[in-house]
This record gives sequence, structure tokens and C-alpha cells, in this order.
Amino acid sequence: MLCKMTEVLDERRLFGTNGVRGVVNKELTLELVTELSQAIGTFFKGGRMVVGCDGRTSSPAFRNLAMGGLASVGCKVYDIGQAPTPMIDFLTRAWKAEGGIAVTASHNPPEYNGIKTIKSDGVETDRDEELEIEKIYFTRSWKRPDWNRVGDVVEETGAGLREYLDSIKKQVDLEKIRARNLKVAVDPGNGVSALTTPTLMSELDCKVLTINANVDGRFPGRLSEPRPDTISSLMSLVKSSGADFGVALDGDGDRAIFVDETGEAHWGDRSFALIADNYFSANPGRTIVTPVSSSRAIKEIADSRHGNIVWTKVGSVDVSHKMIELGADLGGEENGGIFYAPHIPVRDGSMAAALIADIVAKAGKPLSELLSALPTYQLSKEKVPCPNHLKKLVLASLRERTSKHNPETIDGVKVMFEDGTSVLLRPSGTEPIFRVMAEGRTVEAARNLADQYKTMIADIIKEKNRDA
Ligand code: MG
Repeated sequence: MLCKMTEVLDERRLFGTNGVRGVVNKELTLELVTELSQAIGTFFKGGRMVVGCDGRTSSPAFRNLAMGGLASVGCKVYDIGQAPTPMIDFLTRAWKAEGGIAVTASHNPPEYNGIKTIKSDGVETDRDEELEIEKIYFTRSWKRPDWNRVGDVVEETGAGLREYLDSIKKQVDLEKIRARNLKVAVDPGNGVSALTTPTLMSELDCKVLTINANVDGRFPGRLSEPRPDTISSLMSLVKSSGADFGVALDGDGDRAIFVDETGEAHWGDRSFALIADNYFSANPGRTIVTPVSSSRAIKEIADSRHGNIVWTKVGSVDVSHKMIELGADLGGEENGGIFYAPHIPVRDGSMAAALIADIVAKAGKPLSELLSALPTYQLSKEKVPCPNHLKKLVLASLRERTSKHNPETIDGVKVMFEDGTSVLLRPSGTEPIFRVMAEGRTVEAARNLADQYKTMIADIIKEKNRDA
């Protein structure tokens, strides 16, 4: 995901999984951001562009460089200042701009920053489009127009907030939520969702408690990635305050994980499972979209509710594009990404918080009870060292060996066995390893399956090495 500059220069690649990222003033220099923005502005044909940034210390400077780069190649720029990435996505689409730039490194440590490019539908550019932008960048084929064709920069700080929050509120039952007077603890982790999520929850008439809710690009409160092991302060707050639930967001506010009223934190696939279960009960027979890395629990919920599940490659852009292609309303990732298309088909942590409030309010039951009623699987993760040049051969061999189990092969090999276990085998995109993710009803079942496939992959590698 994080391209080192040496790799970038060697491979002539800038974009990783979600945009261009790097350490500020090392890999991500002001020259790079300026020229990349000129390339992006050229890709968007000098059209209208929305630009916003997260709360990192370097973000205001890089946002200015991005706006300068875009305007210098003739783009008209709408500067919305600090905003969560999903709000920048939303306003790019709502304001019918040709594109947008989010200056953000999402959940990465504070020394990082990055650039995400957004298309007119609010979704990030795909791999082919990124290749085009990279080509413009590396060939420096942007045109600088005459002085009177340089684009305007229009200051729009705070202008789209109302529109954005109203779009989320339209998707939930305001009356039911308001009637319940929920108490909700919000932990933006000093990220930029501090500007939106607490406001949203109070507009739903929730009593809002906050922690780490001042935007601070050094992330003094906790690590920017919300995980059950990084949000202990929120867990304590929920418990001591008697809150109905807690929500923790990542640095740019597109991912959220939840804490139930007992103070227990849950991985994103648990909250996604709950949202999916409720979605199917209201919309039987519909389709939801999720990457192959998601839990088998999602599939079980879809089956039990007569719904369909479509697996995608791992990556939020793949989920968004598949949702648009199928006209699906709901998507989700195990890392806490919830995509709700009636609002916008990109992941949005504030939307996820509103959906959980909606579910808790309607059910009239505690979140812990709602989550424990869902199917539960234990996860075991392993990795096997695998030279990059053997990855394709190993993958082909795994496909062959698992073919009788009808595997899903859109990204690696995912097999769901009749006995309730399942396994995902994927080569890493960045390291010389093969990853094994096994699920089972018990820890032991998951571990045994992971061990079995770890051994199988190691044997295949030995075999291929012998053949070579
Ligand atoms: Mg993020």
C-alpha cells in the first residue's frame, strides 16, 4: 500500500491500494504533490474539482499545493477545507464536479500523507485511470495555459456540511431514533470525523459523549486505525457512562467500528453482519457486495434471509464499482467499511453510525444482544514465505487442488467447506508471502484448517522450487 519512493521510481508507480501515500518530505514532497495535481487536473481535462483534506499537520500545505496544481492547468477548484473523505466524495458528486482530490493518508501514522483522486460519481479512480494519471505525471505531459486561463479557487469551507448530513439522515428512521434518546460515545481518534459524526449523532437526538474529538494531526489520543486493541479509552467511556454504544472512526472518517453497551469492541465484520441482517429482513432477495476477505457469517446471513452475496477483490474501490454495476444498496468490509448506496456507494463511518443507531432504536434491544444473535466464526491467520515469482504458480496449483470444492477465485482462492469451515488463500501484493485466513466454529477448527493449508502452500513452493 505504501509505495517507497525508490520503488515508485523503479516501477514507475505512484498509486497504491487507496491513492498515493508516503512519508511527508521523504516520499511525499511538495514537488510531487504539485506536479501530481497538474497531472490529475490534466486527466480531468481542466474541469471543476472539489478539494478537501484531513486533519494531518501537513494537510493544509498539501491541500494548497493540490489546488495550485489543479488551477495552474485550468481547473476551477472548490476548496472545502477539512472534511472526512466520504464528505469530499459526496460533494464531488452532489456539486456535479468533474472530479475531486482528498489530501489524506486515512489511518496511517501521523508522518504520512497522501492523495486520493475522486471521479464525478464520488468513487475513487480505478487502476486503469490511475495508470493514465501516472503516465501523464511521468511524461510530464500537462499544458500550462496562458495567464487568463488559470482556474479560479473558490473558498467553500463548511458549505456542503448541511447537504452531506441531511443525505445521511434521510436513510434512517428519525422518529424512531429520536424517540429512544440513545446515548452514544463517539471517538474520532483526533481525526477529521470530529467535524461531522458528533454533530450527526446529536441531530439524531442522541446524547453524545466524545473522546479524542479535537482534530489533531499528531493523533495524540490513540492510533488512527480503529481496532479493538486501540480503542480501550472508548470502551471504558461506554461502560462508565452507560452509553447504548460507542463508535470509533479512522483518521479520514470512512471506516468505523463499534463498542456495545457492555464495553466490548467488535471487529467491522460483526457490525457489517448486523447491518446486512437488518437490510435483508427489510429487503428480502436483494444483493449485497463484500470482498472475499469478509467472514463466512455474511454468507450465512444472506442465505438465511434469502439474499444474495457477491464477492469482490479486496479493496474498497472494487466494492463501490461492483455495487454501482449491480445497483446494490449495501456493501461492507471486515475493516469497518460500510457502503450504503442510497447515500453514496463509498464507505462512510458516519453513515455506519447512523445505521447502527437506527437498528438499535428499532429493535429496542441492547447492541450486545443483537450482535450475539448473529452467527459467529473464529478466525486463524497464517502466512507462508513465498518468492514473488512463484506466487502465480502457487495460486494456480491451489485452484486446481481445491477445484472439487467449487472455490471463489476472484482474488486468491476462497473455499467454503460443507463442515462450516472456510479458508482464503491470497498472495500478498506487497510482501513475498502467501496469506492464509481460516474460519471455523471453534478456535481449534480454524487453527487446524489454517495449519493444513499453510503446509500445503509450503509443499507446493518446495515442489515448484525443485521443478525450477
Ligand atoms: Mg480511511
